[in-house]
Amino acid sequence: MAEITEAAFRDEVVSFLDANATPRDLEQKFVWGEGSDAVALFDETSREVEQKQLAEAKRWRALRYDAGLGWLSGPEQYGGRELPASYERLYNGLEARYVTPNTSFFSIGLGMVAPTIHAHGTDATKDRYLKGMYRGDVVGCQLFSEPGAGSDLASLQARAVRDGDEWLITGQKVWTSGAQYSDIGEIICRTDPDLPKHKGLTGFLVDMNAPGVEVRPLRQMTGGATFNEVFYNDVRVPDDHRLGDVNQGWTVALTTLMNERASIGAGGIGGGLASMARLVEMLRHFGLADDPVLRQELADLHIRFTVARYSNQRALDKIRSGQLPGPELSTAKLALTQNMTALSDYVSRVLGPRIIADTGEWGTWSWSKFVLGTPGMRIAGGSDEVMRNIVAERVLGLPKDPGIDSKTPFSELKVGTQTS
Ligand SMILES: Cc1cc2nc3c(=O)[nH]c(=O)nc-3n(C[C@H](O)[C@H](O)[C@H](O)COP(=O)(O)OP(=O)(O)OC[C@H]3O[C@@H](n4cnc5c(N)ncnc54)[C@H](O)[C@@H]3O)c2cc1C
Repeated sequence: MAEITEAAFRDEVVSFLDANATPRDLEQKFVWGEGSDAVALFDETSREVEQKQLAEAKRWRALRYDAGLGWLSGPEQYGGRELPASYERLYNGLEARYVTPNTSFFSIGLGMVAPTIHAHGTDATKDRYLKGMYRGDVVGCQLFSEPGAGSDLASLQARAVRDGDEWLITGQKVWTSGAQYSDIGEIICRTDPDLPKHKGLTGFLVDMNAPGVEVRPLRQMTGGATFNEVFYNDVRVPDDHRLGDVNQGWTVALTTLMNERASIGAGGIGGGLASMARLVEMLRHFGLADDPVLRQELADLHIRFTVARYSNQRALDKIRSGQLPGPELSTAKLALTQNMTALSDYVSRVLGPRIIADTGEWGTWSWSKFVLGTPGMRIAGGSDEVMRNIVAERVLGLPKDPGIDSKTPFSELKVGTQTS
């Protein structure tokens, strides 16, 4: 791919955006009571609206991809431009100045599944899926958690049994975000129960529309249903859809989890909503702008989100430049959820009872979606406690959590409702 200077790239991106999107009014000031007051952490709409938004998101990614802007740092072979990470940042900064469709549908597929296919997939899966994923034609989801295996993921029980050139998958996954609109899923299954629990696992890519796959929505306390239970009943998966070697699925899972933590930590979730203007105007509106404690706490929040943003930027650059994300990236996710919890507490104190009942007052009850969504963020992608364990063990070098049995065969462990 020919080299391109940052200035020429900027011109290319701006002409693409000018031709295909409407510029945002960057001068527009935040005015209390005007526009949308939505601050929800999860995109919760009806299935009809979700389908329309997905179609818009796919249209936008296809436009980007076809213009050569779909995977800036990726390999040319899969439609990438092989540009440095700084060009991704440049693109994102420029795109943020325009009104574009919500593309959060792709965050799991592109943030976690695609990097795992790239690192561990066969040529067949790379050829078949990577372009489609970056073009927005193929949406991916992550099928890791089970009713008896979340934090302790290696206790999972979904089984994959070899049958010639195929595998037969049977079991149940849970909390699968976006399964309802996904085309493929990255699944980790047990392939040898006679090995210790981290050793008998294998990763696969599964077709979410294959016979035997059943997706059932789960309703959350926020009111929406953005994640699901997924049942597998003798689902056939070709061997060339295996990720990594047989019984090496733990390494595959770790690649995905590290990318997950980095992308959750680095994502704008919460940070964008904590816009100072919104919070400052809230204090002014309720006559609290002179309250010394609230002022001090607001400044503290601003500092916390800003520090986290810069640390995440450093971490993301590392990933985008092709280096493996390290365990220290777990601090990014931890910082985000700590900051979101602090923001939730702050807003709850400022709004008081207004956050409990919907009085129709602008900018008040809408925060309940944020407050009720925050605990989910503290659990998704590794709970705060598990993140602390990882930081303690791998960053600070403290002794390992004694709970992990790395020697006993899985079949001899007393795990949940184990049937194997
Ligand atoms: C919004 C959301 C989206 C999700 N999306 C997906 C998805 O797309 N795909 C997917 O596969 N999964 C998904 N999950 C599942 C998520 O990965 C699990 O919920 C998470 O790993 C925790 O597992 P668990 O729910 O089984 O809780 P458990 O592991 O049972 O944990 C229960 C409690 O015990 C604590 N705990 C557990 N082990 C330890 C330990 N060793 N030391 C200290 N404390 C401990 C935990 O911190 C927690 O407080 C999602 C979850 C949420 C909330």
